[in-house]
Amino acid sequence: MVIEHSELAPSEAAVPGRYWQRLEDGRIQCDLCPRECKLRDGQRGLCFVRAAQDGGMVLTTYGRSSGFCVDPIEKKPLNHFLPGTPVFSFGTAGCNLTCKFCQNWDISKSRQMDRLMDAASPDQIAEAALRAGCRSVAYTYNDPVIFLEYAVDVAEACRKRGLKNVAVTAGYIKPEARAEFFGAMDAVNLDLKGFTENFYHSLCTAHLVDVLETAIYVKHETDAWLELTTLLIPGQNDSDEELQALTAWVKEHLGPNVPLHFSAFHPDFRMQDIPPTPPKTLFRAHRIGREAGLNYVYTGNIHDEATGSTYCPGCGEKLIGRDWYEITQWGIGNAGLGQGGHCTACGTAVAGVFEHAAGRWGRKRQPVRLTRS
Ligand code: SF4
Repeated sequence: MVIEHSELAPSEAAVPGRYWQRLEDGRIQCDLCPRECKLRDGQRGLCFVRAAQDGGMVLTTYGRSSGFCVDPIEKKPLNHFLPGTPVFSFGTAGCNLTCKFCQNWDISKSRQMDRLMDAASPDQIAEAALRAGCRSVAYTYNDPVIFLEYAVDVAEACRKRGLKNVAVTAGYIKPEARAEFFGAMDAVNLDLKGFTENFYHSLCTAHLVDVLETAIYVKHETDAWLELTTLLIPGQNDSDEELQALTAWVKEHLGPNVPLHFSAFHPDFRMQDIPPTPPKTLFRAHRIGREAGLNYVYTGNIHDEATGSTYCPGCGEKLIGRDWYEITQWGIGNAGLGQGGHCTACGTAVAGVFEHAAGRWGRKRQPVRLTRS
């Protein structure tokens, strides 16, 4: 555990929120995410962290975090963005989805501000990330869309110092706000939770189409590097038909070079009655993704070097070997930061953001405590 000290920032109080409008009946409507919560003064939205106050919208979690940790970038998961490097990761509290299978529910469903023990201004976070030797800062653990104003300010402080920004998000955000949010990001792991409206509606009380629009937007209208993750839940979103439809959509609308991670569910929150995802389901999904023509398909939350590694789409050579989050092999040539690479065996282009060599952070997780001095 690394102990950092930070002043109690004045920004810890509620700050004005963006993306809202006043309604004729006196309420205000939040226009940050497709829920469009309509609130009377004193009420909070479904995410619990945005509230109507004094006739306007406020974000109540600015400058407060549920914790900081230095993770391997592969844990986000991002396999084609600065492989092997450490990422300074943090989240706040609350969420704008209601997933019954949430794997982070103690944070995302928290309505207790006592979860928000650590306080840090944007500059303090960026400085702590630099001191920890990180190349990037990740907005993760809960969905950063709901703390947009804080995330964007932290991202700006990071960019000033040469740090990259990584969003781990379900992508449930309206068009006007997503331009600001994703414009601040350099890489995105977007959670594509399933591929039917019924799944999104019944398990997340959300809509698939909004998430697909966000994926298309990030891929085609921003400079951010995009990867996707689908948590496979037995009997809920893992049929051959659904996986074939999902992977065909990714190939058609995002292209063959957007990495797709299939990860294993474990019983949690309101889905304790469903067993963990068996490895054979992940291998089946991996095969379906490859058969659909996707170049980079991965399994996650299980230990399998074969489906956790990156292969050349041209000659099939293993280019980036991974043992859990440890880089065991590196065959990416002539890469410079911000550039894609190529296969050292046959020269085929490899999509991603690579440096000349892999980072050496390994699989370590290093909690960092920013305490009030
Ligand atoms: S961001 Fe929060 S308050 Fe705003 S519409 Fe979404 S759930 Fe409601």
